[in-house]
Amino acid sequence: MSHQPVIDGFEFASAGATQAGRLPVREFPRLRDLLASDAGEVEYEVCGLLDERGRPGLRLAVRGTLELRCRRCLEPVAAKIDEDELLVLASTQEEIDAEPADAELPDRVLASKAMALRDLVEDQIILALPYAPRHEACAAGAAPQDEGKVLPFAGLKGLMRGRN
Ligand SMILES: [Zn+2]
Repeated sequence: MSHQPVIDGFEFASAGATQAGRLPVREFPRLRDLLASDAGEVEYEVCGLLDERGRPGLRLAVRGTLELRCRRCLEPVAAKIDEDELLVLASTQEEIDAEPADAELPDRVLASKAMALRDLVEDQIILALPYAPRHEACAAGAAPQDEGKVLPFAGLKGLMRGRN
């Protein structure tokens, strides 16, 4: 049942191809540890394009609702994911490393002839997850400040962009 969609990165981008589908949350191995439940699916859509500098890229949109664990009461809390990111393809890791770290620049991703969309979608979800998930009106009430327990990867992008 588990299909694993892959794309040829540069070819997909230069052809302006589009692919959309759904992936079950339970098929994201790195994400599962961060979740209260691995039920449900996420929708994705990936479009190949050339960016304003003529570089091949992918625009990846991911939507879904994930069940995280509230940092205050430890009960499940729904986190809506609705991300739309430009990923500019690179042919080597050196090319990515040579770029200055700048949150304003589009993310770079290493292209290959068989890029697993599941991995791209999973990366995007992990970067989009809230740093400290909690209910807006939590039964545990006002809690002390975060005790410094940091979920691996979660909220990295939010920190970089100062969204949290
Ligand atoms: Zn709560």
